[in-house]
Amino acid sequence: MAEIKIEFPDGSVKPFEAGVSVLDIAKSISTSLAKKAVAGKLDDQLVRLDQKIEQGAKVEIVTKDSADGNVVNWNSAALVLTAAIKSIYPEVHFGEIDNGEHGFYVDTDKTDQQISVDQLPAIEDKMKEMIKSKIALKHELVSVDDALASVDGDPYQAMIIKRNAQDNQVSVYDIDGKIVVSDNVALLNTADIKAVKLLSVAGAYWEGKSSNPMLQRIYGTSFYKQKELDAELVRQQEARERDHRVIGNNLDLFFVDPKVGAGLPYWMPNGATIRRTIERYIIDKEVKHGYQHVYTPVLMNLDAYKTSGHWQHYREDMFPPMDMGDGEMLELRPMNCPSHIQVYKHHIRSYRELPIRIAELGMMHRYEKSGALSGLQRVREMTLNDGHTFVAPDQIQDEFKKVLQLMVEVYKDFNITDYSFRLSYRDPKNTEKYFDDDEMWNHSQSMLKAAMDDLGLDYVEAEGEAAFYGPKLDVQTKTALGNEETLSTIQLDFMLPKQFDLHYVGADGEEHRPVMIHRGLVSTMERFTAYLIEMYKGAFPTWLAPKQVTIIPVKDDLHGEYADQLRQKMVDQDIRAEVDHRNEKMGYKIREAQTQKVPYILVVGDDELEADAVSVRHYGEESSKSESSAEFIDNLVNEIATYSRE
Ligand code: ATP
Ligand code: ZN
Repeated sequence: MAEIKIEFPDGSVKPFEAGVSVLDIAKSISTSLAKKAVAGKLDDQLVRLDQKIEQGAKVEIVTKDSADGNVVNWNSAALVLTAAIKSIYPEVHFGEIDNGEHGFYVDTDKTDQQISVDQLPAIEDKMKEMIKSKIALKHELVSVDDALASVDGDPYQAMIIKRNAQDNQVSVYDIDGKIVVSDNVALLNTADIKAVKLLSVAGAYWEGKSSNPMLQRIYGTSFYKQKELDAELVRQQEARERDHRVIGNNLDLFFVDPKVGAGLPYWMPNGATIRRTIERYIIDKEVKHGYQHVYTPVLMNLDAYKTSGHWQHYREDMFPPMDMGDGEMLELRPMNCPSHIQVYKHHIRSYRELPIRIAELGMMHRYEKSGALSGLQRVREMTLNDGHTFVAPDQIQDEFKKVLQLMVEVYKDFNITDYSFRLSYRDPKNTEKYFDDDEMWNHSQSMLKAAMDDLGLDYVEAEGEAAFYGPKLDVQTKTALGNEETLSTIQLDFMLPKQFDLHYVGADGEEHRPVMIHRGLVSTMERFTAYLIEMYKGAFPTWLAPKQVTIIPVKDDLHGEYADQLRQKMVDQDIRAEVDHRNEKMGYKIREAQTQKVPYILVVGDDELEADAVSVRHYGEESSKSESSAEFIDNLVNEIATYSRE
């Protein structure tokens, strides 16, 4: 028998007989490894444990305690889910069957009535029974005709067969005689799945298109240990409690209604107050740091986006142009850069003015895919805390550092501590997405890297994440649901100044080309607010809270007037205070202010009235304390002015 060479992740190479399986290799290393092994990676591609290896390759054993190991468990549980459903509802059809970030899902279609949450316990019981019965997850390659025959008229499975077919063959699993089409890598036996939980159901369009039929997606998760499953369920519960869409609804901050426009958020008064506070803060901060704030239109002649290259490289994210009928084509801007370039170009610029920092809370529109839209986090109309700095080439490093410093200062005021840096480069193979100029890319990418190294900051490097015109530094944070997202970004750009023929008059009296730095400090108002809602779980620090103080008179006829006077004193100091005059029990009013997460509840009765005092209850605290009203207001003014988290 032929001998092949297998290379392991540590670089060691061992000979094996051709046709050896991944499991055999694991066994040859140690029995304990074989016990933990759930799949393999063959030249970086996930494969089943019984995959036979005919040629020399790099092999990694995938174990239960790895991220890939979880994926294999989820793939297996998804297959068991299909078999369980089929045994209960033989007439069911299946769409996508796949894993997600935290589990698996199966799209189902039942002609009479779709599967609902009420049916999940019975289906889950059936799955557990199948896991206990140690059923083989038999993997086979069959001909397209055989596969079509075995799915018995299921239109979605038939389409998947055609999609997956290679050389007239498709990969299927046979679970207890039930055939499911799937390319995914699964375990050899149901027994290894161990712990499984079905979570929810939600409508999902076939192939994600709203013109296609809606199927019912069943979500679940599974692990090799019950303990791991329990921990995941706790994590999911916490994520739900933090979900900005849920909190946004409970606190009446915003809404998005697909009927009036998917991805087009409405800011209700409470949410608008938070946004206005952020906007004022950021404008004041930037003005202090030498930025000049402007207002520029959301509509622009399409030609500007042809010059900038957006039309060539960014078109699929843009709304279609508006043909005005007189030869003019107008475009809703997807970025503010060309607008700020107009501001720069409006005057002749001298080297003495540089760096010129143009900033705007710029509204822009991007045609995000409907499946990607999420609350305020990913929208189609957004307002970016945008800024473009025009510098001389020898000012790049210095300005880059200044932007970073400003960013860190802002993060501190918002108490943001959990973030990491990512240097985003182009994908050199993707000439369609990225502006084609090797020298420019190599130069600017190494310049960014040098600046980061100079500052001694840690970062990861990511290919294919750059803007089409240049590399960037992204600041990455995590959403409540555990997804990574970009909050801030600083981008270097040698291209747009060239495209728009920008210059400044140098000390030598000659024209020179400036370099542009694009930067978004706190992202869009939408994404930043979503982030803050999740970070604070809706309990905003006082300076950001939509309602800062609720005053509750013990008896409205006796203490209502005093409460109003207090409120007026606070309003005069720009404090957002309200009096709850309603004819309700005091306990009820206190509870309601607490569910609204109002930072301060003041109760005023006879004692308070007499002493010009207030009885203060701080959000999250059980007890209240008495304070003179003047002292309370003074402290509060100070707390707000210092962005305190108290
Ligand atoms: P992403 O990778 O998140 O799509 P991007 O790289 O296209 O973003 P930029 O062009 O750098 O984004 O936009 C600046 C910032 O605007 C991003 O860093 C991000 O925080 C925010 N942003 C981008 N798209 C959206 C959106 N659809 N909804 C809300 N905020 C967004
Ligand atoms: Zn820009």
